[in-house]
Formats: sequence, structure tokens, C-alpha cells
Amino acid sequence: MKAPLLPSDESVRQDAVDELKLASDTFEANFDRITRLLGTLVDVPITAFSVIDNDRQFFKASQGLDVRETPRDVSFCGHAILQDDIMVIEDASGDERFADNPLVTGYPNIRFYAGVPVLSPTGRKVGTLCAIDHKQRTLTERHRQALIDLRELLESELVLRSVSVKDHLTDLFNRRYFDETVSREWRRALRATTPVAIMLIDVDRFKDYNDSFGHAAGDECLKQVAGVLKTVGRREGDFVGRFGGEEFAAILPGTDKDGAEAVGEAIRSGVEALGIDHPSSEARRVTVSIGVALATNPDELALGYAHFLNRADEALYAAKRGGRNQLRFHTP
Ligand code: GH3
Ligand code: MG
Ligand code: MG
Repeated sequence: MKAPLLPSDESVRQDAVDELKLASDTFEANFDRITRLLGTLVDVPITAFSVIDNDRQFFKASQGLDVRETPRDVSFCGHAILQDDIMVIEDASGDERFADNPLVTGYPNIRFYAGVPVLSPTGRKVGTLCAIDHKQRTLTERHRQALIDLRELLESELVLRSVSVKDHLTDLFNRRYFDETVSREWRRALRATTPVAIMLIDVDRFKDYNDSFGHAAGDECLKQVAGVLKTVGRREGDFVGRFGGEEFAAILPGTDKDGAEAVGEAIRSGVEALGIDHPSSEARRVTVSIGVALATNPDELALGYAHFLNRADEALYAAKRGGRNQLRFHTP
């Protein structure tokens, strides 16, 4: 068996997967419809939108499969994303790359495979749309066209999704998407009883900044602050958004007090280090104040996301009163 090589753009490619949040197991009706249509059109028992996520392939949507993921090493899709066109394997048992592959010798007993790379709006191959059969086959021209057409639909879906969830100015997730995702993540944390940190980040004396330098300079400044926020919170499940105006929020699942302090301090010092002049601010440069609320046990998690958002807001207010350019945890 031959394990797939890594594409030359692997790290940016993985960034695109993370950015689109394609590795989360939330159900998406349109992805599901596309895989269902593919099954009908190509007449195969198994279809999938397989996302290549670090060392695994994750079936973001699929039909006829009982598993949600397999190791990347044994994946057909890991090979398919290495080419631009469709990869067709008519009989995997007669192909030296796949003959002794566990997905061929055991469940789901792949014989025929046709997969086409799916590109992110930024042009990275995040995964494949693929059709699989238990018996040897050839891909007809009509089937090939169906696969290509559905791939286009899937890619348009990814484009729509990336524009509707993003804030135009900063390219961070917008408030609506943040709220939606965070309530979902919260329920997940509640089930798994993982701790969650919520962080509100507010630019200090920003009204004065606009008054001194104008609104356009203010916008530019917000972009730079957002740039700092993008470099933190990159762990699986972390989520950073623009909450409104000059206020940002982050949710960090599985993060305890020390972890939250480290992330918050990285943000605070990162913004200060931008060194953006701000004469009427305490530090004489653009800074942020940060309020953090932690939910560490099931009883606290049960109080809900909105409750902790309020707590983070109270902590933020304390940071402002304490002199700004600092991080405060909520204390009862
Ligand atoms: P504090 O340190 O207490 O947070 O003071 P502040 O001046 O930052 O707080 P305040 O809420 O009074 O002012 C927020 C300002 O942010 C007012 C608003 O004009 C400005 N602002 C909000 N959104 C934008 C934006 O998209 N672009 C620009 N340039 N300014 C914005
Ligand atoms: Mg402010
Ligand atoms: Mg504010």
C-alpha cells in the first residue's frame, strides 16, 4: 500500500480547512443533498464529501458509510487531492497503491473509486467529492460530468458560506455566525464537560482615536488589531469573531485559567506591540482591555453561554476601570 504524499501547500491548505470549519461534525443539509444526488446520478452505494484534515480524512457528508473518519494514510482522497483532475480507480484490488489497503481488504470494501478535488474559495484543495462502489466499474462521460457539476455546487456552497459568516472589514467571523457557533460549541462542551473560556476584547479609547485620526484610520487600526487576534486561538475549536464596533470575542474550549491567561496576554501584548500611536490613550498607543469568564464544571456550563458572556463583560468593565490595557478574570 502506498500512503499519500503531503501536497506542497499542506500548511496553507490545512489553514483553509480550519478557516472554513470543515472538520466539525455539524450536519449541513446542502452537503448532505449533494452527496445524495451524486449517489443517484452515478448509481453507487457510497458517496462522500471527504475533508482532508491533518492526519485523517473526515467525512463531512456521506451516504452509505458507517464511519465518520479514517486515517489519512489509508485514504483514497489523500491521493486524489494531489491531482487537479478526477482520480479514477476502476479496480482497487488490482492497483498496487491500494490492493492491500484496509479500506479495500475490509470495510467498506472499496473496488471502484472516483474522486475530484474540492477547492476552498482561496483555491486550496480541502478535500474531495467521491463516488465509491463495491464492484469494479468504469466512469462514463455522463457520470464524470455529474461529479464535476456537483463539485462546482459544493464549491459555490463554500463560497457562500465564507462570505455570509465573515465581517467585511476585519475578515473575522461576524457576530451572527459567532453566536450560532458558540451556542453549538457550548452544548458540546456541556455534553463533554470540557471547560470553556470566553473572552471579550475591546479597543481602549477608540472614540478618541477616531476623533484624532479620522474614521478611515480607525478602520485600518481595527484591521491590524484583528490581525493579532487571528494569530491566537488557532487550536481546534477556538473561535474568534468581531462582536460589533471595536469589540471582539473569543471562545476557547478546553482552556483552563492558565491557558486563558496566556492567550489573553498574547493578545494584549500583541496589540500593544503593534505600536500604533494613540496620544490620548493611557499607554500612548493603541491597546485593548480584556474580560475573561471561565466555565469549569458542569454546573457552571449549565448556566449557559449568555450568562458567561455577561460575566466576561463585567470583567471587561473591571479592566477598563482598572486603567485599561489589561486582562481581568470575572470574580463573583
Ligand atoms: P473605552 O476605552 O472605554 O472602550 O472607550 P471607547 O472610546 O473605545 O468606547 P466607546 O464605546 O465610547 O467608543 C467606541 C467607538 O468605536 C465609537 C465608534 O465610533 C467607534 N467604532 C465602532 N465601530 C467602528 C468602525 O467600524 N470603524 C471605526 N473607525 N470606528 C468604529
Ligand atoms: Mg472601546
Ligand atoms: Mg466598546
